[in-house]
Amino acid sequence: MNVGFEKEVGSKPHSIIPYKARTTREVRQAVAAVGIERKARSVWALRVDGLVAIARPPPKIISKKHKKVMKLDILVFAAHPDDAELSCAGTIYSHVLQGKKVGIVDFTLGELGTRGTPEIRAKEAAASAEILKLSVRENLQFRDGFFKNDETHQLEVVKAIRKYEPSVILANAITDRHPDHGRAAALVTEACFLSGLKQVKTYDGDEKQLPWRPKAVYHYIQSNYIKPDFIVDVSDAWETKLASIRAFKSQFFDPDSKEPETYISSPAFMEFITARAKEFGHSIGARYGEGFTIERNIGVKNLFNLL
Ligand SMILES: [Zn+2]
Repeated sequence: MNVGFEKEVGSKPHSIIPYKARTTREVRQAVAAVGIERKARSVWALRVDGLVAIARPPPKIISKKHKKVMKLDILVFAAHPDDAELSCAGTIYSHVLQGKKVGIVDFTLGELGTRGTPEIRAKEAAASAEILKLSVRENLQFRDGFFKNDETHQLEVVKAIRKYEPSVILANAITDRHPDHGRAAALVTEACFLSGLKQVKTYDGDEKQLPWRPKAVYHYIQSNYIKPDFIVDVSDAWETKLASIRAFKSQFFDPDSKEPETYISSPAFMEFITARAKEFGHSIGARYGEGFTIERNIGVKNLFNLL
């Protein structure tokens, strides 16, 4: 038997030798040659000339070249296209300006919206993505108003987390005027935990995904006031944030629109967005700010990293 396995076993007789096969084919050859003693999961126990050796087939390694991962620094999840723009576009663009890669994954097409259509909103989302210089934007097409925080939806979110391997995740407000927001927040928090578990198996096409847990999940603040745990200075990104919101022409104030007026389409709504950002900004000595909450405590090693 001219296989590596036999050679290794033969070099140390009378002992059980953990044998790391070089290839799966080599393990198969050895198994065929000497007969299988036991096969359980990925461990093979082989009998060779009265000795028993353990052989582990090499783990299937997905090479970096073939791995379908587009590494992002920040991944933003949003229940509806425009949630991210309204709540954290300033934070997104500030980090893009600092050289970070940022992407948005929207959960729904916002098909329950009073104004516009899913097709129009998809085009508007793409236009906003260009303005914010996002690395990627995709839509999971969950049902607006009715998606659930259940296994099916959690696994879809896990897939997105593993696909982009972000360090930081931004998610909807933990509770808000729109019930989808709080549900989306809980869904993301649970998916982030599950994504780190090896036994939760997901596939991107036919390729098995690797477990991934982001360093932090921060919840942006949207309609209802929530006292933030920290505020990001977004003064340098403010005009770009407004441009990204205006990209959703069907949703927000447009003097030429003939569609029915809604809570968010009145001029007063844009004034509120600005007022909220000025208030948050003022409290940290900046012109404009965006607030976030975190479910654990915040820690720093260097006090000078805080504003
Ligand atoms: Zn929303």
